[in-house]
Amino acid sequence: MQTALGRQVSSGGRFTWTGLAAMIVSAPLVGLTFARVGEVVQSYLAPSSLVPVLMGVFIGLTIVAITRFGRFGHRSTIFSATVAAAVVAAVGYETALGGTGAVGATGSASACLDATLAKPVAPLAKPVAPPAKPVAPNESTYQFPLGRPLQIDAFFALLAAAAAVMVTIPAVRVPYCDRCGSWFRTIRNGKIDLPTSRRLAELLDVDRPDRVRSPRYRLSACQGDCGPTRCELSWERSGGGVDLARVWLDDKQRSEVVAILDELNLNECEAASGRNNAKPQAADPLIPNP
Ligand SMILES: [Zn+2]
Repeated sequence: MQTALGRQVSSGGRFTWTGLAAMIVSAPLVGLTFARVGEVVQSYLAPSSLVPVLMGVFIGLTIVAITRFGRFGHRSTIFSATVAAAVVAAVGYETALGGTGAVGATGSASACLDATLAKPVAPLAKPVAPPAKPVAPNESTYQFPLGRPLQIDAFFALLAAAAAVMVTIPAVRVPYCDRCGSWFRTIRNGKIDLPTSRRLAELLDVDRPDRVRSPRYRLSACQGDCGPTRCELSWERSGGGVDLARVWLDDKQRSEVVAILDELNLNECEAASGRNNAKPQAADPLIPNP
């Protein structure tokens, strides 16, 4: 369930040539850096497809950090840069392993992929004649049927790109304010009680079932505080599942929501201090009786 009272804030930022240039420079650098990191990590790990996935995760995190630091919010460019960095990393990683002779010879990631990608090869009926030309030192390139190294590169690139995009998606789903050039950030969030969630739902015209559990709220705004505020209300339905409602608040609605939340905090503070005062004071054992 999703409710929106206004769509004044675009979910992503505008395209800028500066942002594109930054991404064109950053993506290959990030990719090559993590190709090298992956190569080092691979030397400590058993052969697995985990390394491309980990590379993808960290590439995604790095690209997100760059967009946050550079205040860049154009989603398509961010996704393109993420995929490009992951592909560069996967190809660079595979090339580095191949170049060091790690592929095939030491049971590296490519050798591991033999088990998953290659079909069993039938034994040859006739003995194979020795090759007329000497075999190149990088024998791994030649031990696969035609197209195998390309498949491995594509498989690694796919793994890394998928992991990187999975990390990037939640980060770029956050709204972006083009006016001050900043991503929205949480300014206030927490649990609320059932009466407060009912009041907020009524105020914001959100459909709320009668029986819910664990209601929560989150307010987010851009750093310049120049646009509307986003309010998220969520709760668990009694029959299972979670509802999330997103509502854009103007200044008046924001003040009303904040007033309700402040009132809740005040009530909770009073209740807590009341409980403390009600506790019987224990006699201090260190004070001697007269
Ligand atoms: Zn702003």
